Amino acid sequence: MKITNYINGSFSPPLSGKWLNNYNPAEGKVYGQIPDSDHRDVDLAVAAAKKAFKAWALTSLENRQRVLQKISDLLIVHIDRLAEAESIDNGKPIALAKSVDIPRAASNFRFFANAITQFASESHESIGANAINYTLRQPLGVVGCISPWNLPLYLFTWKIAPALAAGNCVIAKPSEVTPMTAYLLGEICTAAGLPNGVLNIIHGTGQSTGQAIVAHPEIKAISFTGGTQTGAHIARVAAPLFKKLSLELGGKNPTIIFADADYEDMLHTTLRSSFSNQGQICLCGSRIFVAAAIYEKFKADFVAKTKALKVGHPALSTTDIGALVSAEHLEKVISYIERAPAEGATVLCGGHRVTVEDAPNGYYLAPTIIEVPSNSCSLNQEEIFGPVVTLMPFETEDEVLGYANDVRYGLSATLWTNNLKRTLRMSTQLEAGIVWVNTWMLRDLRTPFGGVKSSGVGREGGFEALRFFTETKNVCLKY
Ligand code: NAD
Repeated sequence: MKITNYINGSFSPPLSGKWLNNYNPAEGKVYGQIPDSDHRDVDLAVAAAKKAFKAWALTSLENRQRVLQKISDLLIVHIDRLAEAESIDNGKPIALAKSVDIPRAASNFRFFANAITQFASESHESIGANAINYTLRQPLGVVGCISPWNLPLYLFTWKIAPALAAGNCVIAKPSEVTPMTAYLLGEICTAAGLPNGVLNIIHGTGQSTGQAIVAHPEIKAISFTGGTQTGAHIARVAAPLFKKLSLELGGKNPTIIFADADYEDMLHTTLRSSFSNQGQICLCGSRIFVAAAIYEKFKADFVAKTKALKVGHPALSTTDIGALVSAEHLEKVISYIERAPAEGATVLCGGHRVTVEDAPNGYYLAPTIIEVPSNSCSLNQEEIFGPVVTLMPFETEDEVLGYANDVRYGLSATLWTNNLKRTLRMSTQLEAGIVWVNTWMLRDLRTPFGGVKSSGVGREGGFEALRFFTETKNVCLKY
């Protein structure tokens, strides 16, 4: 199957005439082709977006809301087709795509369709000067949205929905590894009545298509989710152009377990926070620190539960762990596991490829737990982004706080304790954009989302996203 770019409301092949292979990771084989677009396709899309901007920015909120709500509705109407496409493209269990990814994409549009109607600005009376100030929040114009492969439609729409709601026109690029549901979104947007040119979806590599979006002088802002190294590169290219940037980058998140935690809930949730989506979620807790008093018990129970997870074909309802996204990514994850002996670490379970019936070439890896001797080893310092977690005991609160913060990343942290004062102390001191206490990945779309340190700059979610996608202007009026 060949997919095409979505520019000005129509589907068109790349101007280069070149195509990239698209792989089905569960089967380890090519199943389609996608455009290898370059700056010429981006130029066309920007021209269409610029043409569409004035009318879209002036569309009444009621109309804008109606179109976005319709997109949300159609995502649910097509949930089976979208979930299947996401699973084939990414290797994630189809049940996960159907219960999380696609519903969340629909929620993104529904949420921002409503949020824009509640988005207020401020006014200040300058008493004594006979003046009043009021603030306008105006759409930026044409903006760029670039997303990764791990939660393809979920993160793609997480950017596009607020950008459109705020009145911008969008040039969006999904990951070249998982382009399928982004392609299908184009059809849905047209069917929902989104005017031509308001959203343009360009497929291709980061080096060619992504670079052209970031470097384009007419694209006023870039909302990017992906790796830290890519984020640093984007910042370098965008800075001289004074673009607004929102960078949601990598993580190496701590899960901190105290002995007073609700044990069963903690165990069950830690299994999820470690291995959901094959551990390929930026928010997964990949460094697990456990109070020494319960360390051995936790280790035994956690290993037993992990061994019981079913690695299998993503199309099967019995599958807990599907395929990793690509052969290259599988290689990378395995290369980390192979470091264990040299780092003085012990693989407690997993650590090897799994051959799945009827799909011997798929990219499957057994969920892996590695006991590490220190937080400074590379297994604890570098983002692996697969079904691999490390385990380490601690004695005191200060000690574990040191481990949690002693890393270049700062996306999220999960804390398991019933001690209120400790919760307050630690959640204040943890260097992370998001702290979960006695839960994981409980997301309320109104809340700010983003990281500190090498996990990124800026916040998305709720009004933060609408602030990002608008320019603030103060008007001072003397009376
Ligand atoms: P990646 O950085 O390789 O690619 C992300 C996107 O950027 C893709 O669409 C890619 O084509 C594009 N890209 C690559 N080079 C580019 C360039 N020079 N200019 C412009 N665009 C470019 O990341 P990935 O491998 O797709 O995703 C995995 C990473 O994403 C992990 O590090 C993970 O932690 C991170 N992530 C972060 C969050 C978050 O919210 N913080 C969420 C999901 C994933």
